[in-house]
Order: sequence, then C-alpha cells, then structure tokens
Amino acid sequence: MTPIFDNTEIAFALKSDSELERAYFLFKMMSVEPLVRIGGAVTNFALKVHLPIEGLIRYTVFDHFCGGINETDCLPVINSMHEKGVSSVLDFSVEAKESEKEFDHARDVILNILEFCKEIKAIPIAVFKPSGFGRFHLYEKLSKGAGLTEKEQAEWNKVVDRFDAVCKKAKAYNVAVLIDAEESWFQNAADALVTAMMKKYNTEKAVVFNTLQMYRHDRMDFLKNEHEKAKTEGYFLGYKLVRGAYMEKERDRAEAKGYESPICKNKIATDENFNAGLHYMLDHLDSMSIFAGTHNESSSYLLMDLMEKKGLKPTDSRIWFGQLYGMSDHISFNLADKGYNVAKYVPFGPVKDVMPYLIRRAEENTSVAGQTGRELALITKEKKRRKT
Ligand SMILES: Cc1cc2nc3c(=O)[nH]c(=O)nc-3n(C[C@H](O)[C@H](O)[C@H](O)COP(=O)(O)OP(=O)(O)OC[C@H]3O[C@@H](n4cnc5c(N)ncnc54)[C@H](O)[C@@H]3O)c2cc1C
Repeated sequence: MTPIFDNTEIAFALKSDSELERAYFLFKMMSVEPLVRIGGAVTNFALKVHLPIEGLIRYTVFDHFCGGINETDCLPVINSMHEKGVSSVLDFSVEAKESEKEFDHARDVILNILEFCKEIKAIPIAVFKPSGFGRFHLYEKLSKGAGLTEKEQAEWNKVVDRFDAVCKKAKAYNVAVLIDAEESWFQNAADALVTAMMKKYNTEKAVVFNTLQMYRHDRMDFLKNEHEKAKTEGYFLGYKLVRGAYMEKERDRAEAKGYESPICKNKIATDENFNAGLHYMLDHLDSMSIFAGTHNESSSYLLMDLMEKKGLKPTDSRIWFGQLYGMSDHISFNLADKGYNVAKYVPFGPVKDVMPYLIRRAEENTSVAGQTGRELALITKEKKRRKT
C-alpha cells in the first residue's frame, strides 16, 4: 500500500495555527504520565468541590476532544469535517449514571440524534453505550448467569425496551447504530441483547452493530460462533472492531479476584487478534458489515489492502473506518481524501459529565507510547510546513 498518512497538509487542513499549537501543547502534556495521573484526580476533585475550573477544561482538553455540550453545539465542527469527506458519529458521552430518569433521558437523546442522522448527511451513524441504558449491576448479574429478582426483571425489561426503541428507529430510518463495548464482566448480557436486536432488525443488511474488543483473547471464537448462528437463522451481522479501552482495569480486576485475565498476553497478540478479525470479516462481507474503530496505521493500511485485493471500492457501504475526534486526523482526513468511508466519534455533553471520557483519552495517550509521539511528530511537521 502506498503510504498516505504522512500528508499533514490534508490531515490538519481544518486546524488554525492556534488550534495546532493547542494540540501540540495537549499531546506534550499527556505524554507525561504522572501529570495525567495526578491531573485526572485533581481535576475530578476540583469539579466535585465546585472550584471554577470548568472554563479552563472547556478551552483546552474539552474543545480538543469534544464537539460541544449539546448536539447543535457540534454542528459547525461536523459540517466542516464533512466538507473534507469525514462524517461524524454524535457520541453522548455522559457516563456512570444510575437512575431510570437518566437512562430514559439517554434513550431520548439517542432517538433525537437519529432524527439528525435522518436529516443531515454528515451524521450517517448513531452510537450508544449499554451502561447508558441500564444499571451495571443488572448487566453484571445477568452476565454471570445469576437470576434477577422480580423488581430487577421489571427494570431489565425497560433496558430491553430502550435498546429496542433505538434499534427500531435506526432500521426505520435506514441508519446504522453502533453499540459500544465496555467492561468484560457485564458484556455477556449486552452481547446477548445486541444479538437479539441484530436478529430482529438486521434482516436485509446490518443496521445494528455490536462491538468486538479484540484485546480479549476470546473474541475470534465469539465472532465465528455468532457468524454460524446468524447464517443458520438468516440475519446480517454488524461489528465495530476495536482493540479495547479498559485494559488496565480488566487486568487489575482479574488479578484481584484471581481469575484468568480476558486480555491478550501482550500488544502483539492484541494486534494479531485485531488483524485476524479484519481478515475474517472481509472474507465474509456477504453476511456482515464492519466499522473499524482504530488509530493504528498498520491495521488501517491492512484494511485498505484487503479491500484492494478483493476488488472492493473505497466507498463500499459495508466498510467504515472510524477514529475519535481530536485524535489521528492524519488517518481520518487522508482516508477521506482517497474516497474511503470515514467517521469520527464526536463526543458531547456537559463538561463535568464527560470527564471520565476525557481522562480515558488522556490515559490512552499516555499508555500508548507510539500514539502521542506520532501525533506530536505530525503536528511539528505541519507547523514547519506552514512556516515555509
Ligand atoms: C471509533 C472508535 C470507537 C471505539 N469504541 C470503543 C468501544 O466501544 N469500546 C472500547 O473498549 N474501546 C473503544 N475504542 C477505543 C479502542 O478500543 C482503543 O482503546 C483505541 O482505539 C486504541 O487502539 P488502536 O486500535 O487505535 O491502536 P493502538 O494504539 O495500536 O493500540 C492500543 C491498544 O492496544 C491494546 N494494548 C496495548 N498494550 C497492550 C498489552 N500490553 N497487551 C495487550 N493489549 C494491549 C489496548 O487495547 C490499547 O488500547 C474506540 C476507538 C475508536 C477509534
């Protein structure tokens, strides 16, 4: 594959000089691990005790990684990215909520986003998190095969109804809906529910997409089993393929509780598993669609390569590349420039509520040594290019 990701003029065409400087500053800060660890804790504390730091967060890390505090706030960013061929997935990034009122609110926000998807070409896909629609406790209990009390069962029925309302509307509007994956210890229940939705709504093509975290060593077997089931029962599969964002938490829990970690033994094993997933899905495109959520250049080149070898057009509607807003613009914008389907998650929500998301991004950019270095090198290259 001819390298395309080094073109920084295309990658940063939407960034003003000052936005480029801010990005440089942020990635530089995030490369210092203790700063991220202490910074995350201090920020959370400061927000809890109402210290006036929201403004500071808003104009630094928030504006870099988020589109705004509500859907309409995000529209300028969404429209300008779309002019460069990059679509958006509006991501309601409010996490760790626990009440029925909040779950109903999250469902209503997603239903409203589907209205946007129907009307606005730049937003072709919706997304939600299972934990946005129901309590962790219920998913966890069901995931380990424990029975629910009568009250819990009634509560779970409401979770199912929320999934169903969103997937039904997505199908009616012919809009894909991605369902994120979270911690492994409650994923079985989420998987079972998403499979039921696929069976119900993926009758002509994939509309409902589950997420496969390929840092889990059991995911290839899971994919193959799900494929067998879908073939027998006659529905299409949709999967967002990612490596996985909760590695340290997963390992710590497994160690603390004394069970085998679900995570691949090292990064190379995760990379191989992710790429095996790409191969498998590309080999079975007659019955599945893929959204490859990755900032990894090799995996992105591999997917392009597989598409070319199979004679598929970059615009093939069954294949999407995805990155997060504020990261890996060199991949998103260069892919879009070559005509591939690309969408960026554009997170939004009140500053305080998106903190868990922002801290995950900061930690990720610290722990993935290569990522920050790469972002910094590309920004530096672009700054130099602009000077000359
Ligand atoms: C559009 C999009 C949607 C996403 N949705 C989800 C989601 O629903 N659920 C979710 O969990 N994550 C999600 N993520 C985050 C994703 O899982 C990764 O954390 C992130 O993208 C970094 O991985 P990478 O493929 O970009 O590549 P890289 O930067 O090459 O890989 C980093 C990843 O490799 C794995 N890894 C690192 N070190 C090791 C090690 N020592 N042993 C084993 N594995 C290791 C980890 O998963 C780490 O995040 C999403 C990402 C994107 C871009």
